[in-house]
Amino acid sequence: MPELPEVEALAHHLREHALYRPVARADVASMSVLKTFDPPVSALTGRVVTGAARYGKFLAVEFLDRPGEDLHLVTHLSRAGWLRWHDTAAAAPPKPGRGPLALRLHLDAVGGPGFDLTEAGTQKRLAVYLVRDPREIPGVARLGPDALALSRDEFAELLDGRSERIKTVLTDQSTIAGIGNAYSDEILHTARLSPYATAGRLRPDQVVALHDALHTVLTDAVDRSVGQKAAELKGEKRSGLRVHARTGLPCPVCGDTVREVAFADRSFQYCPGCQTGGKPLADRRLSRLVK
Ligand SMILES: [Zn+2]
Repeated sequence: MPELPEVEALAHHLREHALYRPVARADVASMSVLKTFDPPVSALTGRVVTGAARYGKFLAVEFLDRPGEDLHLVTHLSRAGWLRWHDTAAAAPPKPGRGPLALRLHLDAVGGPGFDLTEAGTQKRLAVYLVRDPREIPGVARLGPDALALSRDEFAELLDGRSERIKTVLTDQSTIAGIGNAYSDEILHTARLSPYATAGRLRPDQVVALHDALHTVLTDAVDRSVGQKAAELKGEKRSGLRVHARTGLPCPVCGDTVREVAFADRSFQYCPGCQTGGKPLADRRLSRLVK
């Protein structure tokens, strides 16, 4: 699932390639991704891209070219959604319900440059909103402060008194916006903290290490994602991960075997050597086998 770094890289690409281009046409290939109906998508025709923004893991294309008539095309890419830039596109409207294409924006001219919003796989969760104000979208209105905007003191304040596990707090979008399962694994590994540590009981030096790790991991990932031209790829492609999705492989820091805790629909990874004093965390699947 694209998180802050990938979405930031896509916004970066739009700022470099889409700015000041007028919309020639918007093609909706999958009606189900569209979560709003007023204003209609046809209202985009003739409007000029004035910017791209990121709200947590939401990506927004801004059309602030007419006073009092702001439009924001906002998407939550969810698990398998992506934004792919194209220099040319088929002029014919796409056939609905076929393939991964959900929405196509033609800029300058029909068949010209623009981008596709796509979704791979059968689970359809990609969401697109056309709104006058991003705060009309419940998922955006709920967001806590952006992960990269948090000072050390603000971060310490957020954790203070929290009884949840630190992994839970880091990925809760209403507490901190932008971090998901992958980068929370990486941040906790860099900070050498157990995912199960109680957020409110971290020592001051651990809070400092965690805040530093959050900044380093996310800014490095933004740089890598921008560098590999995210919007020219077919989908999310991550590099440089040290524990996430690396179950069974050696930890690049200490050589211990990366382990995972699995739930019905997701799993997370950590290194016992770096993060839990060498002890494996309880995994319900594993304990059932052992019993
Ligand atoms: Zn390790």
